Amino acid sequence: MTTPEPARRASATFVERHGGDPDGVWFAPGRVNLIGEHTDYNEGFVLPLALAQGVGVAARRRADGVLRVTSRQLEGAEGTVECAVADLAPGAVSGWGAYPAGVAWALREAGHPVTGADLVLDSDVPPGAGLSSSHALECAVAVALLGLSEPDPTTLDRTALARLVRTAENDFVGAPTGIMDQMASLHGVADHALFIDTRSLAVEPVPFDPGANGLALLVLDTRTEHALVDGEYADRRAACAAGAAALGVAALRDVAADDLATLEGRIGDPVVRRRVRHVVTEDARVLSTVERLRAGADLRSIGTLLTASHASMRDDFEITVPQVDLAVHAALAAGAHGARMTGGGFGGCVLALVEAEAIDDVAQAVRAAYAGAGFTAPVPVPARPSAGARRVS
Ligand code: ADP
Ligand code: MG
Repeated sequence: MTTPEPARRASATFVERHGGDPDGVWFAPGRVNLIGEHTDYNEGFVLPLALAQGVGVAARRRADGVLRVTSRQLEGAEGTVECAVADLAPGAVSGWGAYPAGVAWALREAGHPVTGADLVLDSDVPPGAGLSSSHALECAVAVALLGLSEPDPTTLDRTALARLVRTAENDFVGAPTGIMDQMASLHGVADHALFIDTRSLAVEPVPFDPGANGLALLVLDTRTEHALVDGEYADRRAACAAGAAALGVAALRDVAADDLATLEGRIGDPVVRRRVRHVVTEDARVLSTVERLRAGADLRSIGTLLTASHASMRDDFEITVPQVDLAVHAALAAGAHGARMTGGGFGGCVLALVEAEAIDDVAQAVRAAYAGAGFTAPVPVPARPSAGARRVS
C-alpha cells in the first residue's frame, strides 16, 4: 500500500519542526456513505466506505506528559494546541484542538496509557463537506496515541475504539454524532463498502469496486450548508422517536418495510408518518443494496436504489436543499445510473454512480446546471473505496 500524501507531509513537517524523526506515522481516512441516511440513530443499517483521503499524523513520545498537536491546515499560533494529558477534562480545550484532546481524554478515561507526545497532522479531507474530516482526524490521533503506548496493535478492537472516539466527540467536543463515521474510518477495506448494523455494531465488508466494473463513484461537494442544521437534526430525531413510540417498537429498525402500509395508520401526525416512511424504506434499500453487492450483481443495478433514497430524503424526510436536488437531477439527466445526497443533509455532498468514461461529462453537466441557477460551482472529490486507519511507518 502506498503512503498517503497527508502522512508523507505530516512526517516531513514533523522533521522540520521538531528535528529528528517521529516514532511513527499513522493515517485514518474520511468516509462517504453509499446509502443509509438517518438510519443510524434508529438502530438501523448503513453502508459507508472509507475514502483514500484522510488525515496523516506523525507522532513522537514526550517525557513531560504534554500533548502538543500541530495542524498543517492552520496558520501560526492557531495551528498548535498544547495541553497536559493529566489535566484533560471536557471544557479544557476548545476549537479544533478539542478533537485530538478529546481522543486523548477518552482513551485515558477508558484506562489506556496515554503518553505525552508531539503530533503533526495533515489532511486532504475538505472540512465541513460531510466527508467526516473530524472523524478522520480523531481516528488518526486515536491510532497514533495507542500506537505510541501499546506496541502490539493486534490487541486493538476497532469497534471498541470507534466507541471511544464517539465518546470523545459527544462528551468532549460536544457534537451529538453517531458511530458510523468512526466505524468506517477504522474498519475500511479497499474496494469494499462496509455494511454496519448500528444496533449490534456488526461490520461486514461487501465488495464494491466501481473501477473494476468500468464505473466510477462521482462525489461532488455542493459547498452549501444550512445554518439551522443542528435544529433540523434534533427535529428529525424527535420525529423518529415519536414514530417508534406510536408503533410500540424500541427503534424504527424494528419495523419491516412490508408492514409499513398497515402500520402507518397508527401514526396520527402526517409529518411523523413521512419521517417514519423514510427511515423504514431506507433500511430496506440498504439491505437490497447489500444483497446485490454480496451476490456480485451488476453494480449498475444499485443505481435505482440510490436515486430512490434521494427521493425519500427529499419528499419524506425533507432534508435536501435546491442545490443538492439540482445536482442529482443534472447527474441523472447526464446519464448517471443513480444519484443521491449523502450525509446528514441541508447541503454537503452528492454522489453519483457513473460510467468511468462519462465522469467528466456528468461533472460538467452539474457545473453547467449550477451556473444556470446562479449556484456556487460544486467541487468534485475523487472517491475510491479504501483501507481504514493504519500505521504507515
Ligand atoms: P466534517 O467532519 O463533516 O468535515 P465537522 O464540522 O464535523 O465537518 O468537522 C470540521 C471541523 O473539524 C473543523 O471545523 C475543525 O475544527 C476540525 N478539523 C477538520 N480537519 C482539520 C484539520 N486538518 N486541522 C484542524 N482541524 C480540523
Ligand atoms: Mg464531523
